[in-house]
Formats: sequence, structure tokens, C-alpha cells
Amino acid sequence: MGLLTGKTALIFGVANDHSIAWGIAKAFHREGAILGFSYATEKLERRVRPLAESLGADWVEPCDVAKDEDITAVMEKAASRFGQIDILVHSIAFANREDLSGPYYTVSRQGFLTAMDISVYSFTALARAALPLMRPGGAMLTLTYIGSQRAVPHYNVMGVAKAALEASVRYLAADFGADERRIRVNAISAGPIRTLAVAGIAGSRALINAFGKVSLLHRNITIDDVGNAAAYLCSDLAAGVTGEVHYVDAGFNVAFPLNEEGEDA
Ligand code: NAD
Repeated sequence: MGLLTGKTALIFGVANDHSIAWGIAKAFHREGAILGFSYATEKLERRVRPLAESLGADWVEPCDVAKDEDITAVMEKAASRFGQIDILVHSIAFANREDLSGPYYTVSRQGFLTAMDISVYSFTALARAALPLMRPGGAMLTLTYIGSQRAVPHYNVMGVAKAALEASVRYLAADFGADERRIRVNAISAGPIRTLAVAGIAGSRALINAFGKVSLLHRNITIDDVGNAAAYLCSDLAAGVTGEVHYVDAGFNVAFPLNEEGEDA
């Protein structure tokens, strides 16, 4: 028996086999979950469908989370296919490339709203739409980054968005914990991983290299590290855990910021 045997999970945010959502999907599949996938654009379907099929999933549906009608439609399709679900994974973020370099304060109103809409509001909107489908004891999960707590170079408006996302995890956990089904809501704060989303952030290669030297485990994080932690958080083993931001970052967030030579990291 796997940790997630008998559970159904909807996974939003696979773009390719480097995506964190793909690491989560692989771990969920290994632990026995039935999976459904949603992708953002027609162009991505070509990549996502074969990946989904490799894990025995044929429910692969479009949803641009910027559109309310897409969110309604994808949950209706999930309801007619699965009836009820146990797990919702939101592994989605977006900000304009020009807002992920240089100083933060130059962000435009539109750039700010876009980052907040796709990276923050979409989790609340998906959670609300998924709620009628959730079985008792179900779990929702989103992905965040330490740029919510610290001024990470070039993370800029995405750091502001992640702070809001983490706050929304706590409010959703309060709302859904009061529901008699006791749905849990958590976030994983992952260390930096080279994915499509990260490639848009200025200086990300150097940051990832430095991270591997200063994290307490002296290594970088993989999508499988995140997937394994997600499997725990969305399983009944974590039945007492909600409203949390769980760091999967090789201990970076508790490290003192000096390298082995005692120099600034
Ligand atoms: P990724 O590019 O593989 O995934 C981002 C996903 O967001 C893509 O699948 C993309 O299609 C989706 N997306 C963007 N706009 C969308 C829209 N309008 N509708 C639907 N989907 C949309 O990159 P990733 O690094 O796997 O990112 C997944 C999550 O993990 C993000 O929330 C990201 O901020 C977070 N995260 C990433 C890292 C990292 O270093 N890679 C670290 C911490 C947190």
C-alpha cells in the first residue's frame, strides 16, 4: 500500500519534465494516487499529455487560471470524471520578465497585478472551485519561495506575491479547517531549482550555484525532494498539519549566511 493509495489528485502546473509539479506527480503516482493534470496553453498540451500518460493518467485538461470560465470548466470536468477528489496541487506562478530583473520599485501597476493574479489569486480561485469536490480529510498544496521573507536579488514582485500566497494559505486553512470535512491547506517553500519559471529571473544560475554551497546539506534541491515532501503533506500522515509553510530547501532558511571560509556567502 502506498501513502496515497485510494486518493485522487488534480495537479496544476506541469509544463515539462523539469517542473516541480512533475516531481510531485511522480511521487504521488509511486505512492498509489490516481492523477489528473491541467495545463495552461494549447502549446503545452503536446508536452504534458505524454508525461501524464506515462503515469497512467488520461485526464489532461486545459485551464488558464487567469480566466474564471476556465476554472469553472476544469472543475466541472473533474467532477464528471472523478466525482470527488482528495488532493489539489497548485504549482503555478507568473510575472513579466522585465519585472524579474533590476530594482523592485520600477514594477508597473499592470505587472504587479499580473503577478498577483496568476501567482496568488489563482490558488484561492482554484481552491474555492475544488471545494465542492473535496472528500473529508483532503489536502491542498501550493509552492512558494523564501523570496517572500527576504529580499532576494531580482525576485522582486514575485517575492511580494509569494508573501501574499503564504498569507492566503493560512486564511484558506482557517476557512476549510472549520468545514466539517477538515480540508488541510499547506505550502512547500522549495529551494531554487532550474525550471522554466526560474529561467526568467535574472541571475538565477549564479543563485542556484551559490545555494548548493551554503545550504546546510551542501547540495541543491531536486523536484523529487519536493515531490516526496508533497506526498507526505498530502497524505494522512500529515493529518495534523495545516496552514504551514514547509521548507524543502536543504536547511538554507536556517543557515547562517557565511560560507566555509567564513566569507559572505
Ligand atoms: P514551471 O515553469 O515548470 O511551472 C510553472 C507553471 O505555471 C507552468 O506549468 C506554467 O504553465 C504555469 N502557469 C503560468 N501561468 C499560468 C496560467 N495563466 N494558467 C495556468 N498555468 C499557468 O516552474 P516551477 O519552478 O516548477 O514552478 C512551479 C511553482 O513552484 C511556482 O509557483 C514557483 O514559483 C514555485 N517555486 C519554484 C522554485 C524554483 O526554484 N523552481 C522554488 C520555489 C517555488
